[in-house]
Amino acid sequence: MNKNEAKKEIKRLREEINFHNHNYYVKNNPIISDFKFDQLLKKLEKLETLYPDLITSDSPTQRVGGEPLDSFSTVEHKVAMLSLDNTYNYEELHEFDDRTKKNVGEVEYVVEPKIDGVGVALLYENSVLVRGATRGDGIKGDDVTSNLKTIRTIPLRLMGNTLKNVEIRGEVYMPLTGFKKYNKEQEKKGEPVFANPRNAAAGSIRQLDPRIVELRPLDIFVYFISFTDKKFSSHYKALEELKKAGFRVNPLVKKVDNIEDVIKYCNKLEKKRESLDYDIDGAVIKVDSISKQKELGETSKNPRWAISYKFAAKQATTRLEDITIQVGRTGTLTPVAVLKPVKVGGVTVSRATLHNFDELKRKDIRIGDWVLVERSGDVIPQVVKSIKEKRSGGEKRKTTPKKCPICRSSVLRIEDEVAVRCVNHLCPARLKWRVRYFASRDAMDIDHLGESTIDKLIEEGLIDNIADLYHLKKEDILKLEGFKDKSAQNLLDSLENSKKQDISRLIYGLGIRHVGKYAAQILASKYQSIDELAEASTEELKEIDGLGDKTAEAIGSFFATTENIRLIEQLKTIGVKTKEIKKEGLPLKGNKFVFTGGLSNLSRPEASDLIKQQGGIVVSSVNKDIDYVVVGDNPGSKYEKAKKLGLNIINEDKFIKLIHKK
Ligand SMILES: [Zn+2]
Repeated sequence: MNKNEAKKEIKRLREEINFHNHNYYVKNNPIISDFKFDQLLKKLEKLETLYPDLITSDSPTQRVGGEPLDSFSTVEHKVAMLSLDNTYNYEELHEFDDRTKKNVGEVEYVVEPKIDGVGVALLYENSVLVRGATRGDGIKGDDVTSNLKTIRTIPLRLMGNTLKNVEIRGEVYMPLTGFKKYNKEQEKKGEPVFANPRNAAAGSIRQLDPRIVELRPLDIFVYFISFTDKKFSSHYKALEELKKAGFRVNPLVKKVDNIEDVIKYCNKLEKKRESLDYDIDGAVIKVDSISKQKELGETSKNPRWAISYKFAAKQATTRLEDITIQVGRTGTLTPVAVLKPVKVGGVTVSRATLHNFDELKRKDIRIGDWVLVERSGDVIPQVVKSIKEKRSGGEKRKTTPKKCPICRSSVLRIEDEVAVRCVNHLCPARLKWRVRYFASRDAMDIDHLGESTIDKLIEEGLIDNIADLYHLKKEDILKLEGFKDKSAQNLLDSLENSKKQDISRLIYGLGIRHVGKYAAQILASKYQSIDELAEASTEELKEIDGLGDKTAEAIGSFFATTENIRLIEQLKTIGVKTKEIKKEGLPLKGNKFVFTGGLSNLSRPEASDLIKQQGGIVVSSVNKDIDYVVVGDNPGSKYEKAKKLGLNIINEDKFIKLIHKK
């Protein structure tokens, strides 16, 4: 193929890929297999590698891969991004309607759900996305183009021929399912979580490394054309045109005849709020006619042709009665607010997190304060701020503790971290968490050893460390409330069985900071015994793919602690498996698998065992390091993500062949 032919083929491939990308991400209706799609992309990549000068910024291959930035540059919006005036009740909506009618006569309205995310402006020139910026102060914002490009529902090149040179406004958000999953994974790794989906979206958009943004489940709804060289008579029609150009417009946008219908629809949206996969905090009401919009104009702050109607807040104020301290598994001391019970968005809240002591100090929250409490995206309620105007002078500060509230040993603050920790490994508060973690389903999976049993074992002084579990005798267990001969025997049996667990489960169960299930499997596939792992140097660990420096350091410091080495020795003596049978020469050694959807010939545990027997690793979440994604019936979001990442996706038949062939 000569260069001219390549150029034509590249153009054709891009159009085809864009078409399928749109079907898949925007319409949720793919018409070719993932495999076919990947092939198209690979073909394009190959041609672009041959002719690098033919690569343009709107090529589907250019979504990811930008280099991390040192900082964002500031750019001026083509048209100022004004904020909307807020209304809080239907009376105020009627007033808005009266004002509007007085100026321009009868109008039709468009009602849109107000997405609680981050406002952005997308600039297209000759149909190509040239810039994406945050709202900033409304006049100038940050250039976050490379981050926005990672969002698959933002077309890099506009479809159709109607819109060519336009500036479009939209709201970037993190879907609730994605948000919960992200936070759960962060928690497992001992990493900070986002307080709510809005913060998650805002934090992600302001990430300097687009490759990190790529892994965040962001999406966008667009809602306005702020600049165009084409004339539209109606806002609603402009939205239709945006859809044709390849954007996602919220499906709940509705055109209505009058203010009564606006109110009816706002009411409906508010009821729908809890069932959506994204947070909305109100509705936006816009005059539909563009000429009337122009006639109404704007004040220095707000347009006069649009207004927002705010839903009842998922916030409330109440009195903060006390601040207690919770000690977590890794020893982290977390301040927790004890509140005078208050209803927040229909749920009674009496405790809320204060995150950490730095935050407590920064927000200057004191015992006795009136505080604003927020519940968002199903996360633990949090104290947003104190209401300083309501102070009487008797409020008390809570200082950062110097000692652990449970064991009274000195606390430590690790450099670069906000957390204050109790580092005493024998601290009862920590022991409780460590044992729970060790026994949990993903770790040693010890049946009949629930949280309350663990608490009682510790309270009765029957265990001082994890190894003590294996020294329990039936008469010890029978001392605990609620245990009979049979249930005590069950517990002893499950303890005995747990000795044979995979060493990946043991590694995970040790509760080394930053070592989640996935890291544990990587470690177990690399090292055949805990001893080998313990001897590995931090430098060596840092070299392992998919582990990261922080994790490597945490492992190093874990095995540098005498207490932990003693625990491993004790477990060995007891007969807990700390060494894997030789894995050399195993066909799937080191290969990572993810399952999504139901299998018909095998159960998941059976399939997992087969993989593990051959040296493979089963992972629960999708990332770019996965070797095989096994897709069964009704696959979930992992499937979509795998497609997005262009991973190797196989069905059950292929999986079975793979397992048997090797
Ligand atoms: Zn302690």
